[in-house]
Amino acid sequence: MREGKTEVIRRAREILDNYRGKEIRIMEVCGTYTHEIFRQGIRRILPPSIRLISGPGCPVCVTPVDYIDEAVCLALEHGATICTFGDLVRVPGSGRSLMDARGQGARIRVVYAPQDAAAYARNHGDEQVVFLSVGFETTTPSVCLAVQEAEAEGLVNFSILTANKTMPAAYEAMRGSTDAFLYPGHVHAITGTAVCEELAARGTSGVVAGFTARELLTALAVIVKRTEEGSPFFENCYPRVVRPEGSPAARRLMDQMLEPCDARWRGIGILPDSGVKLREKYAAFDARVRFALPAMEGRENPACRCGEVLQGKCLPADCGVFGTGCTPEHPVGACMVSGEGACSAFYLYGG
Ligand code: SF4
Repeated sequence: MREGKTEVIRRAREILDNYRGKEIRIMEVCGTYTHEIFRQGIRRILPPSIRLISGPGCPVCVTPVDYIDEAVCLALEHGATICTFGDLVRVPGSGRSLMDARGQGARIRVVYAPQDAAAYARNHGDEQVVFLSVGFETTTPSVCLAVQEAEAEGLVNFSILTANKTMPAAYEAMRGSTDAFLYPGHVHAITGTAVCEELAARGTSGVVAGFTARELLTALAVIVKRTEEGSPFFENCYPRVVRPEGSPAARRLMDQMLEPCDARWRGIGILPDSGVKLREKYAAFDARVRFALPAMEGRENPACRCGEVLQGKCLPADCGVFGTGCTPEHPVGACMVSGEGACSAFYLYGG
């Protein structure tokens, strides 16, 4: 078995090492790919004509400024307890981050799953608890489950602030920026691969990849070989996890509880039907409804080029404040905060 894996890596490296063709732009889409490709040293061994560019697949990075403003408002003006994944705490809003709000007395708790937030609400009946629901198709089903369970047990002090997004609209928006997508495996474990097949039929190539060095090298080598053949293509290079049909049960749950909506992506703008929100039936668990939140107009820091980084239009190092005014300790933009962010990857691994 081990020899088999070694042989796969050797063959993939041979394909990549020997590539002398025209430039191929490969969009990593998912921030975890960006970090893993750096961490595994894969960037260093690629020929210059294979150009890796970042994409919009880091949920924290694409969460817009006005969402942070809403969360800060809930915490400071409505006294809600905010339960969130850790990365969001330091993401700058228009004026304040959640960490700043915590310094002003807000209750901000880091959790690892929406169920943790519901459990906290269950044990603190005198607090209104809001879970910050960001993420793609990968994590959205677990949020649905948490709301479903909260409804079943009559939990009245728990709600969610949605900024959940779906990938197909993002692929559509990024089509012109890349020669091939490295489609995020964990997303397509839920959605299946029909959207990738359909994009290939319309001329946009890509492969679904796994996350180990062998899987990533294989995916990149497949992109090179298939690009040389000249026709648009799709290949599933992560079949141990991604099946063509995805997870119908997870999609059914999402369809039952959520409806599509337009969504703002940080630095990119509004993409029609690229988000989901709770259906009317679950409005009691929608923090915007529960607290009658007004619409907010966030102000992004003009120095930050996250939007261009997330569209593969520039590298983090092209940003004027990269590594100087913007560091993981003092982030100016979300891409420097998140553990999946391109700017943090370039900063950490010296890109
Ligand atoms: S270096 Fe900082 S300010 Fe510049 S694009 Fe990245 S996150 Fe934004």
